[in-house]
Order: sequence, then structure tokens, then C-alpha cells
Amino acid sequence: MKKIFSTALLLLIVAIAATAQSPKYVFYFIGDGMGPSHVWGAELLLKELDSKRRLSFTEFPTTAFVTTFSASNGVTDSAASGTALATGNKTNNGWLGMTPDGQPCYSVAKWAKDAGYAVGVSTTVPINHATPGAFYAHQNSRNNYNEIAEEMRTSGYDFFAGGDPIYDENRRAELYKTYEKSGYTIARGYRDFCNKSKDAARIMLYQKDIATQLPYAIDQNDNDLNLAQITEAGIEFLSRKSNKGFFFMIEGGKIDYASHSNDAATVMHEVEDFDAAIRVALEFYNNHPDETLIIVTADHETGGLVLGYRSNYTLSIKRLEAQKCSEEKLGNILDEMYGNKKLNSCNELMALLEQMMGIKADEKQREEISRLYSKVVDGDKEQSRKYMHRIANYASEIVSQESAISWASGNHSAAFVPLFAIGAGAERFNGVIDNTDIPKRINSIAEYK
Ligand SMILES: [Zn+2]
Repeated sequence: MKKIFSTALLLLIVAIAATAQSPKYVFYFIGDGMGPSHVWGAELLLKELDSKRRLSFTEFPTTAFVTTFSASNGVTDSAASGTALATGNKTNNGWLGMTPDGQPCYSVAKWAKDAGYAVGVSTTVPINHATPGAFYAHQNSRNNYNEIAEEMRTSGYDFFAGGDPIYDENRRAELYKTYEKSGYTIARGYRDFCNKSKDAARIMLYQKDIATQLPYAIDQNDNDLNLAQITEAGIEFLSRKSNKGFFFMIEGGKIDYASHSNDAATVMHEVEDFDAAIRVALEFYNNHPDETLIIVTADHETGGLVLGYRSNYTLSIKRLEAQKCSEEKLGNILDEMYGNKKLNSCNELMALLEQMMGIKADEKQREEISRLYSKVVDGDKEQSRKYMHRIANYASEIVSQESAISWASGNHSAAFVPLFAIGAGAERFNGVIDNTDIPKRINSIAEYK
């Protein structure tokens, strides 16, 4: 009798443990281009401003190093790494949801969908860009944007949000009609989402006006849709769509963009913005701690970012705070001002660079800025645009240098990316793992198939 009782007790414990291991809600956060120095740089900047502040996800109990190489190179692009993170398969750079032998491969989002979970895919960049695309599309070129936008429709996923899809502009109106015919309500802006979501079977959330990217966090104003709102919207919508739970991918896509530009201040603000979205998921986790798994990782490192400069010990990350807008926006502002005859001399330009970027140019820097400014020819719009953006690029280079931040690349690197996990099954993500391991482990924990 005693033996039967203890066996039954053991089975019960095993059953409870198995249930506790299987999360109902999975958040998969991907910081595009977010290497270790991106994370630590953003956290250092927060600490500089207030010693008590830090990123939420660096406090997660489990961490791992993740390898990111693709089937075709040690340095991956976002399509191959997206495919690895989504489907657990290595593929060639540029390929999406397809193995190198041309066979389609399916993502953890689809496994979740097929198992009856609600599914959301979201980003700050075009919704048919490589990383989100890897969760629903199958193409041998990430540039097949029209086809990828079409596969988004047929995915049947419940929630899409981010930048409008890149698409043939002449047929854009037609595309949205086909989305609506397939049961998607299109919401423009967070308020519009709140008005429409209750009656929507499936939903796509974009910005108020058609735009393929959200603005950089450093450039956003209160009316702009942001990634934290997208996360809130997704949770609200997906929670109602299935009793089983949901799988929700959220990409901070512009950490990568700013890193390609080597624009350090903008990068750190993007990581903070990504963290703001993770905090929304954490709040959800705190209400459902035994049923929620949150994974935060990256698809690759971008920029060869190093917090340090040559032989000096002069890291001065606080310097980044004096930069008031992204390099891209600065270029646009300069170009526009010049076109409107509001920027008429190199001295005025210097004053602006001091105001917007905190630059007090030394003689050498002043010489270079004058040289670039002298290339701008009156009335030649293309020339103005080109050189005003060159000046903005040089300005952000000065900011990096003065902060003692170095960039080894304008592209991706093969560095490990970090992974942080909390919640049901989080302990399964530790040590050195490969990016293809992540969806497989999510699947084995959540038991989608
Ligand atoms: Zn990427």
C-alpha cells in the first residue's frame, strides 16, 4: 500500500513538474544586431545617468552565448540567422525559411499555430523584412518582398505589427485589400488598434501613415507607434485568441540599422527602447510566472562594436547623451535647412552640430566639415543630400571617438550574441549554444509538436 502511495506521489510530482515546464505563453525577443557590447553599452549609459538604473533583461536568471554562423559563411546575414532562430535550420546568407537544398523549412511560430496557439510576429522594420519574414516565408532571396508580403497573408497568424511591408508601390492599395479579404483588420496607430481590436478576427498594426519603419527611438515623439505599445497590443490581442496560449516574436530591428551606420548614441537608445518592450512582457510574466517563458537574444552582432579606443583607457559613454537625434535625422535636417536657405554658412553649420551632437570641433574636424560643406553645390539637390548626410555621418563618427567607442565594421560580425531567459523552461538555455538550438528547445519545452 505504502509503495503504491509513494509511486502515485512520485507520478504526481513528475506530472506537476512536467506541467510547470510547459509554458502557455512564449515571448521571443530578437534584438537585430545586438551583440554583447550593445547590451553593456546601453546599460552603462543608463548607469551613468542614474546609478540605480539598468536594463531589465540583464537581470534574467539564465544566460547563454549563441553562435550565429550561416551555412555559407562565418558571418551571417539576417535572413540566414532569422531562418536559424525561427526554424532551427542553417541556410545560405540571403535565404529565408528554406534549406540550402531548396526545401522549405517551417518555423516555431507555425508549429505553435498548428498546435492551436495564437501567434504574433512584430518588428520595428518592414514586416516582410528578413527577421520577421523567417517566421512565415520560404524564399531563396530575402529581396522577394512581394512574395514575402503574400506569404504573410497566407500564414494565418493572428497578429502582425511594425513597419508597413516593402511592396510594389503601384499595387500597395491592392495588397491591403487582399489582407482584408483574408480576414485581417488593418489598424493604423495604437489608438486605432484599441478601437478596432475587439471586433477583429486577425489584425495588422502599422503606423498612422504608411511607413516601412518605425522612427528611431531617439527621434520618436509621443504620437509615434513604439515597440512597447506593439508588445502591449500583441499581448492584449493574442490572449483573447486562444485558450491554449500564444507565441509572440518581437524584433528590435533598428539596433542593426543604427549599427550599420556606426551611430553609437542611436544604437544605445534603440537597445533601451527594446528593453521597454521587454518590460511589458515582464509585467505579463509577473502575473503568469509559471506559464510564461521570455527569451531575449540577437540574430548576429552588427558593427564590430567595441567599448574602448586603441590604447587609451578613456571610455566616456556619457558623451553620447549630448547627441539629440539620429545621424539619419541630422542628415535630413541639414539637407532640408540648406534647401530652405536656413543654413547659409559653415559657421551656422558648426553651431548646429554643437547643438544637435554636442560637437565642439577642433581645427582638424572643422577643416573636414568645411571640406564636406564646400562640396554642396547650390541648386543641386542630389549633391546637397549626399554631402549633408556625409557631414551627419562624420558628426556621429566624432561622437563615437569622443566616447571612445570603436567600430570595426559597417556590417555584421561573427561574434557570439548573448541570450537571456526567464520563466518556465528558461534553465534549458545555458552555456554555449547554436542559434539553431533555440527554436528546437522552445519546441521541446512548449511541446508544440
Ligand atoms: Zn540582422
